[in-house]
Amino acid sequence: MRTIARVDIFPVRIPVTRTFTFASGTAGAAGEAAPFVFVKLTDNEGEVGWGAVRPMPSWSYETLPSLVTTIRDFFAPMLVGMPITDVHGLQQRLHRVIGRGPSTGQPNAKAAVDMAVYDLASRAAGMTLRSFLGGSDARNTIPLSYTLTAHNAESVRDDIAEGKQSGFVHFNFKAAVKPQTDIAVARVVRELVDGFVWADANQGFSLHDARRVAAAFDEIGVDLLEQPLPADKLHLMRTLRRQVSIPLAVDESSVSAADFFQYAAEGLVDYLVIKLPRSAGIYTTLQQIAVAQSAGLDLIVSGLTGTFITKLAACQVALAYDCKRPAGLNGSQFLDESALYPTLRQIEYDGTIHLNNEPGVGAQPDEAALRDALIRDLPMS
Ligand SMILES: [Mg+2]
Repeated sequence: MRTIARVDIFPVRIPVTRTFTFASGTAGAAGEAAPFVFVKLTDNEGEVGWGAVRPMPSWSYETLPSLVTTIRDFFAPMLVGMPITDVHGLQQRLHRVIGRGPSTGQPNAKAAVDMAVYDLASRAAGMTLRSFLGGSDARNTIPLSYTLTAHNAESVRDDIAEGKQSGFVHFNFKAAVKPQTDIAVARVVRELVDGFVWADANQGFSLHDARRVAAAFDEIGVDLLEQPLPADKLHLMRTLRRQVSIPLAVDESSVSAADFFQYAAEGLVDYLVIKLPRSAGIYTTLQQIAVAQSAGLDLIVSGLTGTFITKLAACQVALAYDCKRPAGLNGSQFLDESALYPTLRQIEYDGTIHLNNEPGVGAQPDEAALRDALIRDLPMS
């Protein structure tokens, strides 16, 4: 039986090429470097699998040291000896050592390990991840959504021109700056973009501002408003849902399948936002997809300005389930990953991900480049 023999953890920094701020925080400033945690699993026959996540404590609560110590001290010891295909058993083990609160505990740390197990198991099976999950290799392209970073109507025009020049058709922007600014930005985006237009408020609205802006967005023709209200205020979503007709989604509110079930069962959302790091990885994302499909809801893909292998894993999951919407996976807009992934530009170009037929997620980081980027002065116990 093939089992996990070794776990390696790489806390690294990746250069940030463009500043990105939103209602609940920032994904980094140009010239800085963003922290990431990579997990490498090796099985008893020498095959490897990779997972990676980005700590973003202003978005969720996990920090770089907490991710490293959780994976190294709690998850790694119980992974060794585990059958490489036992993703169900993996969930039991992860939750045995780091329990749940009201929702999933430490989803980012769990996601890194879960993604690595899926990459390893599908590589060992000689299958792409999408085929391993029950999909088809014939479904291999997914358009990306360009993330607009400008927070005023004039600069948004330049931002859109830049995105279009790179081949993007679909655009997303961050709302909850100020109601009049949000509405002015939405007008410009809708005027210039024929594709899918998606606004994300990152929990930033009060109910009265959400009502006002959502109604205006609907009239302008914005296709989706994501996470308008604070994540723990289900009752406000109920009120908003009754008062506006624009399609709605939650992101920060839905970490587990049980969380999402509440929103789906009450008819409060139109989409499931597939986001692997938020959802503790692929296994629990598949459960959320089952809830969405049972409820008749559409799928759309998002990320945490993640690294390329996390983006590819999300695309593999989305294509396994024939997701038709653009993926808001914007890492390449903000990160310089050229040293880590020599094949990146063969897979991502013209605003689209073109998955190959290599086993696993379709790319692995260059280990020497990871070692060059290693954080050696990590503050931890
Ligand atoms: Mg979001």
